[in-house]
Amino acid sequence: MSDGLDSAGSTGLLISGAGSVGSALAVAAARAGVPVTLVEQRGETEFGRDERLFVLSEPSWRWLSEIGVLAHLGTPANPIREICVEEPGQPPVLLDALDVDLPILGYTVWSHRLGEALHRALRNERAIRLLYGSRIRRSVPVRGGAHCWLDTPQGSLQLTTPLAVVAEGCLPDWALESGLRSREEDTGRTAIVIPLANRVRPRSAQAYEQLEGQSLLTILPAATDRSVVIWTRPRDQAADFMEAAPEKRRWELSRQLRCRPEDLTEEGKPAVFDLLSRRVDPPCAERMLLIGNAAHTVVPFAAQGLNLALRDARHLVEAIVAARARDGTWGSGTWTARFWASRVRDHRHVDQLTLDLPRLFQRNDPLFRMIRWGGWRMFARSHTLQRRILVRGLGWNP
Ligand SMILES: Cc1cc2nc3c(=O)[nH]c(=O)nc-3n(C[C@H](O)[C@H](O)[C@H](O)COP(=O)(O)OP(=O)(O)OC[C@H]3O[C@@H](n4cnc5c(N)ncnc54)[C@H](O)[C@@H]3O)c2cc1C
Repeated sequence: MSDGLDSAGSTGLLISGAGSVGSALAVAAARAGVPVTLVEQRGETEFGRDERLFVLSEPSWRWLSEIGVLAHLGTPANPIREICVEEPGQPPVLLDALDVDLPILGYTVWSHRLGEALHRALRNERAIRLLYGSRIRRSVPVRGGAHCWLDTPQGSLQLTTPLAVVAEGCLPDWALESGLRSREEDTGRTAIVIPLANRVRPRSAQAYEQLEGQSLLTILPAATDRSVVIWTRPRDQAADFMEAAPEKRRWELSRQLRCRPEDLTEEGKPAVFDLLSRRVDPPCAERMLLIGNAAHTVVPFAAQGLNLALRDARHLVEAIVAARARDGTWGSGTWTARFWASRVRDHRHVDQLTLDLPRLFQRNDPLFRMIRWGGWRMFARSHTLQRRILVRGLGWNP
């Protein structure tokens, strides 16, 4: 069975969605000896350019290197050694990798470059059957597996799999029969991604986070002296910003960053992402598991969504390999529930960092502000506290 699909129509792992998460999971599983069928609705040439700059934590980076993805990157990544967190009017807090005994915090890499590297790695793995322009229509659990019906450009296909993993970025209709339900909440905020042709912050290895009321602003340095600003704002303010002339946009951004408009060289039109908080809890059923944005969409504060999902993917491959070595049975409802139970804590930590921390900065009554500033000063001085938050947040040891 060289391509993961035998003549009887069975496969090892069936994954739907070849975004960053589904692709990384497929490569890791194939390299661990698990045959994979990966189903992607887009055609092979329909993957557009995405100007986001992702921060990958060091553990994510190391894992992508171990499974051979980074060998296909072909573009330099920018190391991140410090994160500067600031509330305007207060002294900034500098989180430095060396202060908290970590070798490095992470790397920035262009999202479309990472996507290209993942797809090159997919094509390199003989144990992966990649079906572009295809979708799963239905999945029904049966004894020992699930029957799945697929629509492909070549016609219908029926496969039997021990486990169907949904990595489609949302909960698809075909998973509803399993009783899974998605809770969606519109955060009312939009992330504006502004690519710049220059560096705004002086230090090339520093990421910057500014928290002020409903506004979260991140500056990420790219290799080759470029940078990207991600400005999360209430939706009406984001819409006004996007409709404004480029000079007005530049002026508004420079005011927020307290720099001169001429210090900012916009490179192309900004892109917008309306932020939904989405969660399927638990994201598992009989012969089915959700992963990535399909299971838990994380607001892009502190660059966590993809990193968390890559940790899920890594642990999932380890669990499958262990089950195959033990008795060869995996993917049942009990098995997926046990897997999810082992991942809940990590998801909770990420929620604390991405939802609870920014909420602290949204309250502006004087007493609360004073308490926050006191706590913030304590945090600035305590390397132990910083290490605890960074180690958890970056998934060093979950
Ligand atoms: C502005 C912004 C910045 C971010 N920055 C970071 C960061 O720095 N670090 C970080 O860790 N995270 C970051 N994130 C989060 C990160 O983008 C997501 O966690 C990640 O992209 C989720 O990937 P995914 O593969 O789950 O979903 P997606 O990227 O949505 O991929 C889903 C795939 O499934 C395919 N698909 C959809 N429907 C079907 C179907 N019916 N059948 C088959 N295939 C289908 C789609 O075509 C696509 O290829 C950021 C998010 C935003 C909005």
